[in-house]
Amino acid sequence: MSLRESDLKQEPACTINRLGNYLWSDLPDENKWADCVHCGMCLESCPTYEQTGQEQHSPRGRVHLIKSVAEGKLEVNEAFADPVFACLDCRACTTACPADVDVGGLIEEARGQIRQALPLTGWKGAVSRFFLEGVFPHPNRLHLLSSLLKFYQKSGLQKVARKTRLINIMPKHLVEMEAILPKVKQPVRKKYKHAGVIKAKGETRRTVALLTGCVMDVMFSDINEATINVLTRNGNDVIIPQNQTCCGALHVHAGDRETGRKLAKQNIEAFKDVDRVIVNAAGCGCMLKEYPELFREDPKWREKAEKFSSKVEDISKYLHDTGYEKPKAEIKTRITYHDACHLAHGQGVRQEPRDILLSIPGVEMVHMPNADRCCGSAGIYNITHPEMAEAVLQSKMQNVPEDVEIISMGNPGCMLQMAMGVLKYGRNQKIVHTVQLLDWAYQKEDSLKEVK
Ligand code: SF4
Ligand code: SF4
Repeated sequence: MSLRESDLKQEPACTINRLGNYLWSDLPDENKWADCVHCGMCLESCPTYEQTGQEQHSPRGRVHLIKSVAEGKLEVNEAFADPVFACLDCRACTTACPADVDVGGLIEEARGQIRQALPLTGWKGAVSRFFLEGVFPHPNRLHLLSSLLKFYQKSGLQKVARKTRLINIMPKHLVEMEAILPKVKQPVRKKYKHAGVIKAKGETRRTVALLTGCVMDVMFSDINEATINVLTRNGNDVIIPQNQTCCGALHVHAGDRETGRKLAKQNIEAFKDVDRVIVNAAGCGCMLKEYPELFREDPKWREKAEKFSSKVEDISKYLHDTGYEKPKAEIKTRITYHDACHLAHGQGVRQEPRDILLSIPGVEMVHMPNADRCCGSAGIYNITHPEMAEAVLQSKMQNVPEDVEIISMGNPGCMLQMAMGVLKYGRNQKIVHTVQLLDWAYQKEDSLKEVK
């Protein structure tokens, strides 16, 4: 479908500053493609190029397409949207690129233009609006979702739905997701609603704030709990600002940069009185660090976003850099580590989580080839592009060593996707967040002390 200005469903917000066939506000950044010399050194790093062998599904091809629209050679239409939205936004290409071309950033900016020109309609638009606008930005609705999931699991409904195969009326990939649903517990944001400051165990060395996240707090509140435990154990008072909200990563990945900006502003305000914002979800941490990119056309908020982003730290890097207590109890296990894209490629955090895991007595680390290759989760990519996500997951699982008991990582989306991989490919590994294992070691140490 070719798109002309007269076909646009809404009036372009910005026609004065148009850039080629980009007609909308928040134009893509020309500087981001200026350094691409078409060398192709990014090609092998790209999971979608590996699967398709097509130039348009490679980083170099995508940069070329995005630039061609800016030069007026291509239009913003479905043919352009397809390769742009098929990108996993995994950032492996930026790591591989000798010129540091920010392909992921360009992809997000191009998606912003596409979604303004071609808003999602029909059931896709309705589902997208329901979750992105109706659920994620509202903590009370997230907590309601958590309660519903808990009821579903505890009341016996889940057993009945599975036994009677009633579950199979849902689309195949949702049935698969239901199968790996973790045991839902009370979100920590709700649990500590009136707690004020959660005090350090022993002397207070620092005060930090925790981003509780959406998926993390609904599906994996035990990881948030483990994060609070390891922080307080290491001399941190922990604050959970109640006016914090969703980081906006899912919105920005989907091209809804306007909602992304609204959420960013709310978080910048919510965390303005703290020096350190700790994040245990790689995707959220990367988004928070990239808030300044959302305000390229707004100098006042850009300055605030830069100040905020400089305070954001991944939990494993924070513990590593501030000197955490090395656990003394032994956890005898063989593990492997998967680099979440938005931790390794997005934030350059690779060695710190490995060091933490290796500091636990009894842990034996088995190398995973291509550990920093995407697992196919990529936010909601496994829902929007199930076939490509499945192919990427299959390739990932081939690299998971057979003889390990645990696959460790630092991102909830990857945890769900890897759990799916374990189930689908008949493996039996546990999926564990880095701080969970550290917390288990501390707990074991404490329980051994009590026995003595
Ligand atoms: S994005 Fe980087 S690695 Fe890829 S073609 Fe351009 S300059 Fe080369
Ligand atoms: S972000 Fe990932 S999927 Fe997208 S072009 Fe780069 S390597 Fe390929």
